[in-house]
Amino acid sequence: MNLAAIRHWVFDMDGTLTVAVHDFAAIRRALGIPAEDDILTHLAALPVDEAAAKHAWLLEHERDLALASQAAVGAVELVRELAARGCQLAILTRNARELAHVTLQAIGLADCFAQAQVLGRDEAAPKPNPDGLLQIAQAWGVSPSDMVMVGDYRFDLDCGRAAGARTVLVNLPDNPWPELTDWHAADCRALRALLG
Ligand SMILES: [Mg+2]
Repeated sequence: MNLAAIRHWVFDMDGTLTVAVHDFAAIRRALGIPAEDDILTHLAALPVDEAAAKHAWLLEHERDLALASQAAVGAVELVRELAARGCQLAILTRNARELAHVTLQAIGLADCFAQAQVLGRDEAAPKPNPDGLLQIAQAWGVSPSDMVMVGDYRFDLDCGRAAGARTVLVNLPDNPWPELTDWHAADCRALRALLG
């Protein structure tokens, strides 16, 4: 399939549209989360009060990062190109929706994504669960196979595969997960070039 024929695009945010800045090892240390544990999964298993306190800390930490966000190479041009072509656009992030908005404003893309089409960790089960992609497919009235999930990490690709969507890996020079990837581009500028 030709990438340019795809009209429904879902983007991961952190590290995909922005320069990656999260220090997940430091976050785990600050919250007492074992190095091998997934942060959101770990928090979900804690007693309610402890989970709430740690989620609050995480939100404040990530707010500072969101305010200082910088666009990844080619990300703004890619999203604006797709918008100009009339493609439907969404964000599926493990960050919070509110902070996704702060981030998109900081990099100058807030006008390209409808609020309802920005799904964060409170709107959908976190990736790699396909829940968010399936919700977006339903909202758009399309089959997941008509959609592409663009991300910089294995969770994005797993999520896309589990939903039955196509997948794009960006912002890694080499592709560690070829079996999960339909297209690989070194960055969003190279991805835009694949559109022809
Ligand atoms: Mg990411």
